[in-house]
Amino acid sequence: MDPKVIPIFQPLRRVPIHLEAAVTEKLDELLRQDIIETKKGPATWVSQLVVANKANGSIRLCVDLRRVNQAVIRDRHPMPVIEDVLARIGRGKIWSVLDVMDAFFLLELDEETRNVMTFITHRGLYRFKRLPFGLVSAPEIFQRTMDEILADCEGAYCYLDDVGVEGSTVEEHDIRLNKCNIADVMSRLSTASPMPFDKAEEFVVREIVSAAAQTIALTWQEIEIASKEDDEIQQVIEALISETTDDLPLSYKTIFTELCSVNNVLVRGDRIVIPQRLQQRVLHLAHEGHPGMRMMKGHLRANVWWPKMDQHIEQFVKACRGCTLVSAPGPPEPMVRKELPS
Ligand SMILES: [Zn+2]
Repeated sequence: MDPKVIPIFQPLRRVPIHLEAAVTEKLDELLRQDIIETKKGPATWVSQLVVANKANGSIRLCVDLRRVNQAVIRDRHPMPVIEDVLARIGRGKIWSVLDVMDAFFLLELDEETRNVMTFITHRGLYRFKRLPFGLVSAPEIFQRTMDEILADCEGAYCYLDDVGVEGSTVEEHDIRLNKCNIADVMSRLSTASPMPFDKAEEFVVREIVSAAAQTIALTWQEIEIASKEDDEIQQVIEALISETTDDLPLSYKTIFTELCSVNNVLVRGDRIVIPQRLQQRVLHLAHEGHPGMRMMKGHLRANVWWPKMDQHIEQFVKACRGCTLVSAPGPPEPMVRKELPS
């Protein structure tokens, strides 16, 4: 960690009430799997939890480690080149592949690192005991460790998002697998689609975006398409890549350090920057049931942002006839003092 960076204790990010039970269940599962543990004692670094719904109705937890990542001094372990890997494994016919997420969790963190990996939930503070996917240096740490473990294992390899053992026959494959130190590792075999290593950061942002998108009833795809067609958003994304803010509108310039992008979507902190074309729709969706100005602002501010959003919300609510009727004028009821019966 860079000692010049001051640790950040981030506040609890509210989980929608209807998801709380599922989050609790998932935390228990991670505790049982020995991946996380309760954080005791004072905390310095505290990150926020991101909850994303999966298509099958279950949820996925992910910790937003972006602030931590800014302080991580990376371990520049040389990443392998494909030719070396191919030379090493030859031409396997039978192979086993380990899911990268599970693979990361095989590496146990030391005490100091665990503390940095603390996160806040509605049930209190927890910390990772094992290497989490969203840590920026996780791929290098993982590659270095695997290179050491696999140094004497013929047919075993670790390349980007693949950890595996290959053999030209079933026998050869099995012998190699058994001989290898990662034999027990491979007992948790899975061929579920792994995530590319260098996409760890993108993965986290994606989770954030899909969590925020869900609460405002838009899909990732809708936001991505509209963002791609939005000239201003694309201009900001280009500025992020080139790191020059000269031509940017002031509303983006002032918050530039909070911005990041994933694919074509722009993100401010943990909020999605809504492309112009979708702004009216987001306002309409957030206004369902006439929740009133304050509720609407609170809900939107927690999930999305765009230049002058607050003003747009105010205009929208003022223009709503339904709201005007509900919040009809009339002075507030005066407090009435009632005499207690003697
Ligand atoms: Zn209204």
